[in-house]
Amino acid sequence: MLHFLLLSTLLLMAQADPFQLDALIQYVDSHQDEYVETLRDWVAVESDSSDVLKRAELEHMMDITAEKLRKMGGKVELVDIGDQELSDGTKIPLPKVVTAQFGSDSSKRTVCIYGHVDVQPAKKEDGWATDPYNLTEINGNLYGRGASDNKAPVLAWIHAVEAYQALNMELPVNVKYILEGMEETGSNGLDAMISQHNHTFFSDVDYIIISDCGWLSRKPALTYGTRGNCYFLAEVEGPKQDLHSGVFGGTVFEPMTDLIGILDTLIDSSGKILIPGINEAVAALTEEEMKLYEGIEFDLESYQRKIGVDRLMYSSKADLLAHRWRYPTVSIHGIEGAFSAPGTKTVIPAKVIAKFSIRQVPDMDPLLVEKQVSDHLNAEFAKRNSPNKLKVTMVIGAKPWVADLKDSLYEAGKRAVKTVLGADPDMIREGGTIPIARTFQDVTGKRIIMLPIGGFDDGLHSQNEKMSRYNYIEGTKLFVAYLHEVAQVWKVVI
Ligand SMILES: [Zn+2]
Repeated sequence: MLHFLLLSTLLLMAQADPFQLDALIQYVDSHQDEYVETLRDWVAVESDSSDVLKRAELEHMMDITAEKLRKMGGKVELVDIGDQELSDGTKIPLPKVVTAQFGSDSSKRTVCIYGHVDVQPAKKEDGWATDPYNLTEINGNLYGRGASDNKAPVLAWIHAVEAYQALNMELPVNVKYILEGMEETGSNGLDAMISQHNHTFFSDVDYIIISDCGWLSRKPALTYGTRGNCYFLAEVEGPKQDLHSGVFGGTVFEPMTDLIGILDTLIDSSGKILIPGINEAVAALTEEEMKLYEGIEFDLESYQRKIGVDRLMYSSKADLLAHRWRYPTVSIHGIEGAFSAPGTKTVIPAKVIAKFSIRQVPDMDPLLVEKQVSDHLNAEFAKRNSPNKLKVTMVIGAKPWVADLKDSLYEAGKRAVKTVLGADPDMIREGGTIPIARTFQDVTGKRIIMLPIGGFDDGLHSQNEKMSRYNYIEGTKLFVAYLHEVAQVWKVVI
């Protein structure tokens, strides 16, 4: 009898229903209010990773995430990734990374979904129309900190797996998750964790999926590249202390004058980088690529309106997109030590530190860029014949990431978008930097796809961040369909 029971249970378990996209889509539709409620619960947790006083909230967020996956039957772990050193030298534990696994069938592909559940800071008085930690729906938009970046996309990936389970449909691929809590402050500790788990957790992973970005317009998009970033400090030190300009002005070499003089040799007013070697390293723009930009849905005028400027540096869409995605640029961010308070103090600062960054694109190499920038600034400084001292340091050196557009992972993405959203996606890049993509590529060597579901106007990192209900729910359906499509992708690029 026992034998019979065991056998019939096994048979029952093996009898999964066949894949039926319509049924899965219907399931997602009929559970959308539940999904919104879960997002509300998640947004209510102030998981701000930049504020150490909120660390308990952040840890609570990691626990909730782990619990949700555990309840679904996943093999879940909270991975210790060490300590964070604060500026005063004290150490506090970093929030644990949540990993989960659904299925370990070696005949299937294995995808690993990366996401994060920490958020940027937000206060009502920053200019939010609603309480940032109380998800509020207005005209189909769900307003709340972290709604689009990255809680709704993470939940959409979880709900996609849940839908298969609820309908007793076999998952087309094994699904793993790696969900962190320090993304907004630079993914502290994650690089080391990925290296440590390269031959364990990642060993059977075929593809990595990242959904931590947005569309460029109302049209769905697949993202195939991000720019890297090299961040520099240039310090000019002169007199022993700040001087009064009335007494010393005209008799000393002023550090600020030196600094501004050399900063002005980085880039000209038309946007051309003047540091020798930088432009030469940039991969040539092909005609095919230019055609791709021309076909992308992007409105220059509304872009201009959005940022509130009268004129942009480029007047054609293709030129503008190329300069946002596939060319480097220099941005000057600030000068530490400069007099910046209101009023008219006539001070000569003794030491000033400029902060600037250079976005990285293929085939630039941050190590070479470091040398090029340092050599260039030192040469320009030498021309000034100043007794002051210049020190140039590169504090961040994040490489760019670009996927092969012909990779079948992207073909699978196109099919899923077409099926669920009825459109061909635009193939886009990010002008900003998502260093984790490059880390995954360099350390694990796995193929990566960025599959965004965020809207172009979600206001990530700013006030009134939102995720539209449409993008959240249709995005969940897109992920459901992608799990099916990616199961058919070849393991090797052909
Ligand atoms: Zn994010």
